[in-house]
Amino acid sequence: MSKPLEMTERTRIRRKANRGTYDRDVVHDILDDAYVCHVGFVANGTPVVIPTAYVRDGDELYLHGSNSNHMLRALADGGDASVAVTLIDGLVLARTAFHHSVNYRSVVMFGRGRRVDALDEKQRVLTLLLERMVVGRSRACRLPNEHELLSTLVIGFPIVEASAKIRSGPPLPEEGDDAQLPYWAGVIPLLTTRGAPVEAS
Ligand SMILES: Cc1cc2nc3c(=O)[nH]c(=O)nc-3n(C[C@H](O)[C@H](O)[C@H](O)COP(=O)(O)OP(=O)(O)OC[C@H]3O[C@@H](n4cnc5c(N)ncnc54)[C@H](O)[C@@H]3O)c2cc1C
Repeated sequence: MSKPLEMTERTRIRRKANRGTYDRDVVHDILDDAYVCHVGFVANGTPVVIPTAYVRDGDELYLHGSNSNHMLRALADGGDASVAVTLIDGLVLARTAFHHSVNYRSVVMFGRGRRVDALDEKQRVLTLLLERMVVGRSRACRLPNEHELLSTLVIGFPIVEASAKIRSGPPLPEEGDDAQLPYWAGVIPLLTTRGAPVEAS
């Protein structure tokens, strides 16, 4: 078992703390199941949240994009950021409106990005991204050339100050007369699955 992540004042889970965890393996598993993160940062005094693709390698999350990407440039300049990843596993329907909920697995991280400049490291990260899409894909397409690598900004974001939160299972049991209400209760699972490939012309 790997060493748990250290809780900080920023990552202290307040409400429903029993759903929270700092288990590094759980955090990594959630990150490895999702494809998109949301990066929150402050630009010119305005908070912004931008969705983007990522791949995890060890204790780092890698983001990439154009050299002119506003969010990546803010991170490359050492700006503070918060990154969140969310997987929705089900809609939780209860007999009372109040107890409706969502089954989810999520991670929240805080930190500062690291600009990746070495071309071999950039190539490695971009290969990981391809492999995350389809295993073996990095051997089934032309890899970025030097010009493409130079026009791509790659940022490593530390998975160090991070928390995970998980809700699973049925709705909370209703109390008193509410337990007898004649309404359906249960979970509607939500799945993200791969469909049949559609070939490009
Ligand atoms: C898909 C989804 C739907 C949700 N819907 C609702 C909703 O409708 N209403 C609602 O009240 N809550 C909802 N939540 C839970 C919500 O994310 C927060 O956990 C909740 O707002 C409690 O915040 P807080 O004030 O206790 O903590 P905050 O003070 O907001 O957070 C303190 C710290 O706890 C950690 N933390 C908090 N939430 C999460 C999380 N989800 N994952 C990982 N770390 C976390 C972070 O490190 C954060 O900095 C939802 C979560 C998900 C993933």
